[in-house]
Amino acid sequence: MPEAALIIDLDAIARNYATIRAVAGDRPVAAVVKANAYGLGADRVAPRLRAAGCEQFFVAKLVEGVALRRHLQDATIYVLEGLAAVEIDEFVACGLRPVLGTPGEIELWAAAGDRLGRRLPAAIHLDTGMCRLGLSSAEVAGLDRGRLRSIDLTLVMSHLACAEDPGHPMNARQLALFLELSQKLPPAPRSLANASGTFLGPAFHFDLLRPGAALYGINPTPGRPNPMQPVVRIRAPVLRVHRLDAPGTVGYGAAHAAEKGARIATVGVGYADGYMRSAGAGTFGLIAGREVPIVGRVSMDLMTLDVSALDEHQVEVGTPVELLAGPGGIDAVAEAGGTIGYELLTRLGHRLRRIHLESQRA
Ligand SMILES: *Cc1c(COP(=O)(O)O)cnc(C)c1O
Repeated sequence: MPEAALIIDLDAIARNYATIRAVAGDRPVAAVVKANAYGLGADRVAPRLRAAGCEQFFVAKLVEGVALRRHLQDATIYVLEGLAAVEIDEFVACGLRPVLGTPGEIELWAAAGDRLGRRLPAAIHLDTGMCRLGLSSAEVAGLDRGRLRSIDLTLVMSHLACAEDPGHPMNARQLALFLELSQKLPPAPRSLANASGTFLGPAFHFDLLRPGAALYGINPTPGRPNPMQPVVRIRAPVLRVHRLDAPGTVGYGAAHAAEKGARIATVGVGYADGYMRSAGAGTFGLIAGREVPIVGRVSMDLMTLDVSALDEHQVEVGTPVELLAGPGGIDAVAEAGGTIGYELLTRLGHRLRRIHLESQRA
């Protein structure tokens, strides 16, 4: 039996990158490829984006940056999580740029540059309302300006808390604070917008966009039509078809009652593969392009679909079923499971073989 696979369309990622570029009025657009490119394989995704013209990349952690450098010799790689003293040598050896977020980190990087006799490149992160990483207003006011000159400041950035909600007052508040705080630093390119922020308009674009999710097909404008193309789907074969010759129940908890004559197809994908048990019933698979409802509870390794509406010859052992590919795609499945597409993507299991589709290089 062919194994269940996660199919990742690298060309669609490149097209989504081009869409963001167009929305951003051809400003530089970086790609956020943290968490292994949101679970899709940074080793394949990042070089495809590099070929599409992307020159700057963001990861969360040093280990991710070190791994990514092997696949991207000539691109800028920023590490969002900042800098610890023990990491300095590895940052320098791999040519990675830390995103500095405390006065202590700035001092570490400046001192490392002094020791090496050259100004080392880095970004500075300003906290404008997330309260996770980045310098506070008070820390910006207290910075030693002379010390900043020992750093090659290549980017000043902050991060939006509510970008997916264009009417939220936080957006304007963070924009104003970002303008105010960034003026207190030496001049450098500035970046505020993630994927959703890109759609808040030119005031949020500055000199660099930092989309992640939208590149991978997640809707950056929730509640409005998705401007991005779908990138991922799960494909798995039907393992078994049951025809009920009497009314019966399906799955754990006997949670689904099936009528006499119903046909139920079993597929080898479950919550261990990242298809949330909480999404389950109410979401759909596709067989030959037709929606078939998932019924009963999603179990660890298996799920069941009601295929009664399809002809018998259309659903047999081995017939491919696609998941995450119906209307609304990953966003709809995530919502049914009480979460967001980001979490669904990054939790897709590694038992699913990754298949990267790539037909052309721009
Ligand atoms: C994850 C992240 C991004 C990308 O956000 P998306 O919503 O996926 O576009 C951008 N900037 C920072 C600081 C992040 O942590």
